[in-house]
Amino acid sequence: MTNPGTLFIVTAPSGAGKTTLVKDLLERDPQVQLSVSYTTRAPRAGEQDGREYHFVSIDAFVELRNQGEFLEWAEVHGNYYGTSKNWLKAQLAAGNDTLVEIDWQGAQQVRRVFPDAVGVFILPPSLEVLEQRLRGRGTDSDVVISQRLLAARGEMRHMGEFPYVIINRTLSTALDDLVAIVRSGRLRYANQRSCYPDFFASLEQD
Ligand code: 5GP
Repeated sequence: MTNPGTLFIVTAPSGAGKTTLVKDLLERDPQVQLSVSYTTRAPRAGEQDGREYHFVSIDAFVELRNQGEFLEWAEVHGNYYGTSKNWLKAQLAAGNDTLVEIDWQGAQQVRRVFPDAVGVFILPPSLEVLEQRLRGRGTDSDVVISQRLLAARGEMRHMGEFPYVIINRTLSTALDDLVAIVRSGRLRYANQRSCYPDFFASLEQD
């Protein structure tokens, strides 16, 4: 499916700094908008319904899923997450560049529907740094930290499914990398053609 808007998929193990990078990208490039997913997990301190996520009950999620509301959905760390199909399609059709921040399972499903989506995988600088970040403020038990590390390693096994990989050593360089990927994603032939159909048609006439 070709759309005037470009779809970006950003995936990372937790601890790679994905959320901060994406937030900074949206500030740097206001043309990119973020898809707000549905989730059954409880809001964290400071999170607002409709901003970080649409927070819903399991029953409501299942109902939405049965109604075909989701382009993709997955269970991640024991909670359900899903991307709104109609919203995303409407945005892309209207020419709005849109970014989904989802896990590898969701990325696989999105790629099936939108093979032209630009996939970006974000890596931490090293496993040691990842572990330090996952330990955070030291409030979690070793068991919880080991589970998070295991989940992170599982996510990283899928990085080869993404054409772009950013190693997040320093935030400013990683942000420059992400901005460059977004820019080159917009400049692909298929994309330019669907953004400027009349211009391209006039040039491609005999
Ligand atoms: P968190 O609960 O920490 O915000 O996110 C946990 C994981 O769920 C992250 O890997 C995040 O990318 C993923 N996630 C967030 N929204 C979606 C979604 O709509 N679909 C899928 N498949 N994963 C999501």
